[in-house]
Amino acid sequence: MDYLQLVNKENRLHKNYKPKNLVEIEPRVKGSIDPNRKILVEKKVFDCWLLLKSDAKKYGFDFDISSGYRSYRYQEEVLRHYIKEEGVEEALTHVAPPGASEHQTGLAIDYFYVRGNEYCYDVKELDPEFVWLKEHAHQYGFIIRYPKEKEEITGYIYEPWHLRYVGNDARYMHDHNLTLEEYQELIKEECYVKKIN
Ligand SMILES: [Zn+2]
Repeated sequence: MDYLQLVNKENRLHKNYKPKNLVEIEPRVKGSIDPNRKILVEKKVFDCWLLLKSDAKKYGFDFDISSGYRSYRYQEEVLRHYIKEEGVEEALTHVAPPGASEHQTGLAIDYFYVRGNEYCYDVKELDPEFVWLKEHAHQYGFIIRYPKEKEEITGYIYEPWHLRYVGNDARYMHDHNLTLEEYQELIKEECYVKKIN
């Protein structure tokens, strides 16, 4: 499994691509698009998520997953749903076209948090849950995949609710404020420098 796999509008996955080692999770809340849908996440990602979740609990934060792996066909459905609600232009600012969604890798998680009876999907910059996550997610191998002020690079609006598992490299990316696109560029440059030396 390549935990650094780059998937975006320029680097798309084949429509038949499906990651191995997916684990099935019973959703805490039924999905709005397909109420019977189970949540699937790559196994290592789920193990690391559970560690994060249990540490967050010690601070009084209750995180859960609203979306994990999405097949190419399901991504088509999601996009169709949002196009109907918002129109094409608006929908494409936050929903990837099929094949361009890293949810298809099984390495991405959309999360929400629970406060008493309240389910918060619309994650806000200053929410204590998010402040904690921003500081600690990399310790569990996760990055905030679509950060603020990096929209030009990622091609997506700021999405504080979307995490991406990248493994150990998360620490470097966090400390140097790098998106996956920038980090991949850096790796390429370093390989190039090594080659010419
Ligand atoms: Zn997402």
